[in-house]
Amino acid sequence: QAGERESLYLVNEYAKNYFHSTMLKTELGKAIGLSYFKERGFTDETIDTFQLGYSLDEWSAFTDTAIKKGYKLEFLSKTGLTIVKEDALTAAATKTFDRFKGRVMFPILSMSGRTLGFGGRILTSDKKAAKYLNSPESDVYHKSKVLYGIYNAKQSIAKEDRCYLVEGYTDVIQFYQRGVKNVVSSSGTALTPEQIRLINRLTKNITVLFDGDAAGLRASIRGVDLILEQGMNVRICTFPEGEDPDSFAKNNSLDALQEYLDSQSQDFIAFKASLLAKEAANDPIKKAETIRDMVVSISKIPDTIKREVYIKECSRIMDISEEVLFNTLAQLLNKSS
Ligand code: ATP
Ligand code: MN
Ligand code: MN
Ligand code: MN
Repeated sequence: QAGERESLYLVNEYAKNYFHSTMLKTELGKAIGLSYFKERGFTDETIDTFQLGYSLDEWSAFTDTAIKKGYKLEFLSKTGLTIVKEDALTAAATKTFDRFKGRVMFPILSMSGRTLGFGGRILTSDKKAAKYLNSPESDVYHKSKVLYGIYNAKQSIAKEDRCYLVEGYTDVIQFYQRGVKNVVSSSGTALTPEQIRLINRLTKNITVLFDGDAAGLRASIRGVDLILEQGMNVRICTFPEGEDPDSFAKNNSLDALQEYLDSQSQDFIAFKASLLAKEAANDPIKKAETIRDMVVSISKIPDTIKREVYIKECSRIMDISEEVLFNTLAQLLNKSS
């Protein structure tokens, strides 16, 4: 329903401005939210560009203010900004809570700049609470279809003809501030075809940047095949142990960052080969699995000429005959058609 979705957008827009001005104009906002972002090295300009904010650590400071301004509880609840709890015994006594209480706020914008939802980061080191909390699914927020940073990045992605894909909110922001503006994040979720399509409208070239913790590396590699399926070119770049794009960009100049990205990015085939070399170069079974995995990735590429080029590359770096690889490829293509 168009009218209802419009109401959700308006509530989100109001919330974005409320959290932003709460952070910049109230004493608590400045002391807690603003100083947190300053400690992370974000400038006033960056805070403005990404419309960062702070949600006061009170049960319903935001909800109460929004209601007073005339925003309806129905829409506050549907965007997930407000959690409504009905008392089981007396249905009349409903209580409302701010979902993002006590968190710094990252508004998530659409390609055209509308506020779809929020990510909120906790400031305490409470191990029980989630570090990041996101808006729940709603008529305007579908987490599988959004890319954090796309609104600010879209021009640079088209101009540079490349998109850097990072894991988190702060990776996007720190890259942008350092001067690498063609950067977006899937915000911790596994990459989806819809997210890739958003990038595909702007460029055919993606570089995936992984955190140095390598935790989800193997799983995240699945995203690579999804990118290949859309006929796009994928490069992969990892960061040193314990670093992520945020920390690396914070501690290095733009020249050093650009030099790192240029020299350390590898084509996906070379990347898979280097993973094997690091882990199990002398294990024939691991090597066979890796080669098979490479051919599976190659089979996702729609362009037949590119497929052939990659088979030859794979043959060369893995030291295995092209004939065997072409046979495996043919089997995989038959199976899928
Ligand atoms: P920071 O530097 O602020 O500690 P990060 O971005 O480096 O955060 P990671 O742990 O690398 O955080 O996670 C990457 C992304 O995954 C986050 O930016 C966030 O979008 C998402 N994420 C992380 N932890 C959670 C969580 N507990 N719940 C939901 N999403 C999360
Ligand atoms: Mn990580
Ligand atoms: Mn990280
Ligand atoms: Mn980080």
